[in-house]
Amino acid sequence: MQIFSGLPQVPKELRPQVGQRANQVKQALEAALVERGGAIRQSSLEHVLNSERLDVTLPGRKPIQGGIHPATQTLRDLYAIFAEMGFQVYRTRDVETDEYNFELLNIPAYHPARDMWDTFYTTTPGVILRTHTSPGQIRVMREYCPDPIRVVLPGMCYRYEQVSARSEIQFNQLELMVVGRNITLGDMKGTLNDFARRMFGENARTRLRPSYFPFTEPSAEMDVECFICGGKGCAICKGSGWLEIMGCGMVHPTVLQNGGYDPREFSGFAAGLGPERIALLRHRIEDIRYFWANDVRFLEQF
Ligand SMILES: [Zn+2]
Repeated sequence: MQIFSGLPQVPKELRPQVGQRANQVKQALEAALVERGGAIRQSSLEHVLNSERLDVTLPGRKPIQGGIHPATQTLRDLYAIFAEMGFQVYRTRDVETDEYNFELLNIPAYHPARDMWDTFYTTTPGVILRTHTSPGQIRVMREYCPDPIRVVLPGMCYRYEQVSARSEIQFNQLELMVVGRNITLGDMKGTLNDFARRMFGENARTRLRPSYFPFTEPSAEMDVECFICGGKGCAICKGSGWLEIMGCGMVHPTVLQNGGYDPREFSGFAAGLGPERIALLRHRIEDIRYFWANDVRFLEQF
């Protein structure tokens, strides 16, 4: 390239000769470079082919396949049972207002019943993470009023709990709600007994114990006879022979009214259960923390 740029200094009569010679040298160098480069690539390819032989007869590695989370499996089993019984799935939001989560459910501010739910509050006043699926009761009533309702309300709930083998800060709930004319406690008992038989087997025995919830009156807990020991008493049922599986009751008149239904004309019942708790019992899982710890060794067993 220096010769090319020095050409103007070469005497005029020698210039064609010098230029031609320089061109010949340049072409020869470029051709040699291409040839040498090709030879190097070829020899390194040969080296790779010789040293990294591929044995196509080896069996393949099976890719890891995901599965359905045990809590979701249980939820889907529950949906299937309630679908057979004529219930629709109605989803509502995880982030709720204090009004829907508490006040419209007959739990005013400063009412001692609020102690039953340790709540996650956001930095926006009045906006919280729902502590139960019950605010969905108000939402579904306000959407369908004055039509009759038969729905299940599933979803994640959040509580500011000390995390332990038995309690988590997040968990699913599945709530059912029926509203219409002439709905009685007998309808509730029949529905829940039918559910228990479909879920736990033809011979599942149940019992109702009086309880308290601000949004139902009267309220009860439903127990199912321990399906692990058959009612004889074991470590899982703590010797009682019964397992508590859901809370239930007749919808409180104030709650019906807040949903837009006239309690003199309409009545209804609601019940709520924990899918993870049912999965714990069904699979004899000892620690509820496994559900959301994202440990594949646990999850791949389902
Ligand atoms: Zn038992």
